[in-house]
Amino acid sequence: MLRILLVVTVTAFAALVIGLRPFAATQAPDTRSHVFSDVTIKQDNTLITGQTIVITDGIITQIRPTLQSDPAALCKHCVVTPGLIDLHVHSPPSVTLGAKELFGYQYLLHGVTSIRDVGSSDSSIDDWQIDVSNGDIIGPNVHYCDKIFDGNPASWPASYVASSADELNHTLNTLVKQPIDCIKTYNGLTRPYFQIVQQTAKQHGIPLIGHVPHAMNLLELDQFEVQHFTGLPYTHNRNTPTGSDWLDEDLLNTSEQELATAVDHMAANNVALLPTLVNSRRRLIASDSETKATSGAAMLPSYFSEFWQVGMGHPTTAHAIDIRYRSIDQQKQLIMQLHQANALLLIGTDTLMPYVTPGDSLIEEVGIFESVLGSFDHAHNIATGINGEQLITAKTGRIEEGYRADLLFYPSEPTSAEQLPTFNYVMVNGRLYEQSWLRQHATQRLDKISDATLTGVIDWGLAKSTALFAHY
Ligand SMILES: [Zn+2]
Repeated sequence: MLRILLVVTVTAFAALVIGLRPFAATQAPDTRSHVFSDVTIKQDNTLITGQTIVITDGIITQIRPTLQSDPAALCKHCVVTPGLIDLHVHSPPSVTLGAKELFGYQYLLHGVTSIRDVGSSDSSIDDWQIDVSNGDIIGPNVHYCDKIFDGNPASWPASYVASSADELNHTLNTLVKQPIDCIKTYNGLTRPYFQIVQQTAKQHGIPLIGHVPHAMNLLELDQFEVQHFTGLPYTHNRNTPTGSDWLDEDLLNTSEQELATAVDHMAANNVALLPTLVNSRRRLIASDSETKATSGAAMLPSYFSEFWQVGMGHPTTAHAIDIRYRSIDQQKQLIMQLHQANALLLIGTDTLMPYVTPGDSLIEEVGIFESVLGSFDHAHNIATGINGEQLITAKTGRIEEGYRADLLFYPSEPTSAEQLPTFNYVMVNGRLYEQSWLRQHATQRLDKISDATLTGVIDWGLAKSTALFAHY
């Protein structure tokens, strides 16, 4: 990841130096109060017809049967669902000019109304949250963890590495005053520092999430949200990999008995899993012709695809590709076992990783859950209400009084993951957008970013920075 960020940063900096100005953002609509009559609410596996939803300043304030005196329906008998939530994304840095707004459109076009950023390469995430919330830029509601607590050497340029327990405590005390939805740990965090971070998270009721640090055994954790499959292959064999989170072959070499022990522990100790299977799968796009590229990459400037091919690790040999496919099968098996054991499963994508594009990758992850769990409604409940419960700075993911008005309006009931983007309207924090309008603006924005001059500059920067970092 370090390398791709360096490449992106150098390239975007080159664009800035040459004199390209950041693009002006389109303003969001001002109105955040609405009355929607004659809708069908789809929630908790049931449909309730003939409802009116009243929204005041972006909050659902009333849900009741439609009255004759209500205003005309926006779309007659429309089916309304909560907006989708992606709990694991990384946002493009500010220097990738215009990319945040383009990502914003892509999320909304796929029905993702809230994202949780779990680690950015710069400190622009809080500005993005404020800009979206004020309507200065169009996009999903932005939630975030801010810092990543790692050890030395850190995996990400923006990670925080403490030099003493006092300094760590001071940093945590400042952090918890921000509107954060999570605290994130990473591979290299030491045992004593992990314990300090864990204690702070518990004390303030902030979800502790992240990679299970190599210094910790998953079997000693409680109230933790495991990202990817970190920790799972290392409960008995403590041979954790240097420079990697976890390895496919280590998961495949973990015995059924060991995995069953991990599953039982997770279910009994509030240890959740957010697997990001779409990230495991889409990395194969660069290396294996059997894995087809998805439409998402075509909706971003071409430099993303170029970076993904040169800047990130992909399984390349026939052996590594085979192991990846077998690992994905094992990952699905584990999801099924965790589901059967009543452990908490969550949905997120790892957007910004190779070919893991904003919005459409969440649809794919919901589809994977749908096929593994054998139920679209269950997968949909996770991506809405259950994911929403993990966010502590806002109530979202449900259609209920007091919840943020993050909604999707469908002409007919969606009954599979692939139907999730078929809505006509999306509402974010009380602001209503027609899907066709969003599509038009996303295309215009992409055309602007892909302007020939800029593409030329970016290609130049890419060549320069690839040469510069070839030795990494
Ligand atoms: Zn990630």
